[in-house]
Amino acid sequence: MNQKKQQEKLIFFDKAAFLLFKLFSLVLVLISFILIVVIIYFYFTFMLPMTASENIIIFTIQTTSAIWIIWGISYNYVKAVFTKPGYPPPNLITKEELKQLKKRYKLIKSNPHNSRALKKIPYCPICKNFKPERTHHDALSGKCVLRMDHFCPWINNTVGYKNHKFFILFMVYLILGCIYAAILSSSAFFFDIGLSDHPVDHQGPLIFVFITCLVVIIGVSFLVGFHFYLLLTNQTTIEFYQNQLPNPKSKKGKIRKFDLGKRKNFDQFFGTTNQYWFKFLFNFENPKGDGIHFIKAEKNLNYRYLNIGDSNVII
Ligand SMILES: [Zn+2]
Repeated sequence: MNQKKQQEKLIFFDKAAFLLFKLFSLVLVLISFILIVVIIYFYFTFMLPMTASENIIIFTIQTTSAIWIIWGISYNYVKAVFTKPGYPPPNLITKEELKQLKKRYKLIKSNPHNSRALKKIPYCPICKNFKPERTHHDALSGKCVLRMDHFCPWINNTVGYKNHKFFILFMVYLILGCIYAAILSSSAFFFDIGLSDHPVDHQGPLIFVFITCLVVIIGVSFLVGFHFYLLLTNQTTIEFYQNQLPNPKSKKGKIRKFDLGKRKNFDQFFGTTNQYWFKFLFNFENPKGDGIHFIKAEKNLNYRYLNIGDSNVII
């Protein structure tokens, strides 16, 4: 078998594996949607009547916070699934510039010892286009994705510049929802620990809800914790692994190019302002900026932000 046929066979298997993975992801998304609907139904028909407080003020807090959390989970999940991660727009550079870039790429590629230098060329040989900083080619969608993080099968979408925020907010609301449900279902243990005079009805299902919530809280907290670490240090998952590699410019081996400090990184990611950081839970807007230009961290440089149109400008 010649080399060309072998290559074609490999491409075929790659495409088949990608297709299977995409189908699997689609099933996961359908399961997630069904689960969300079932949980909402379950809450209003079973949990709420069982655990509703007789005090009107507590009951109002109980129901409004439930509606707010349900809204946060549903809205952010839909946005994470259906918002495209962001692709580089065409004509970012002129045709002549692209031609020169392609030439440079081919020249560096011709030397097998230049693999490190090749990665620095802002050119995607698959899309045959200019690749802005922090952009990576996503094999599953076959496109370059702005500020790409990873492909998530639970949303059947690539997490990138435009949907990363919704992806994180979905997980945060999911944890809040589980904490809420765990508190409500903890009434199942009240009789056993002497907090109530009579055993609660449907103790079994309530214990099941309580344990399920604990498992979800522990599992998702690890992922949320990691993503908060990434956003507070202004890195994507891909950049995090790249930053672990030894770097000749730094003894520590880590240079976080875009790390402007925790507070500024947080505000940049969630679109909040200094003193109102907690508003990140209520900010459902699309991220500001264009996903192409990012402020770089430089020592002894005092940055201030000014949003002009779609891009962050340093003044
Ligand atoms: Zn590409």
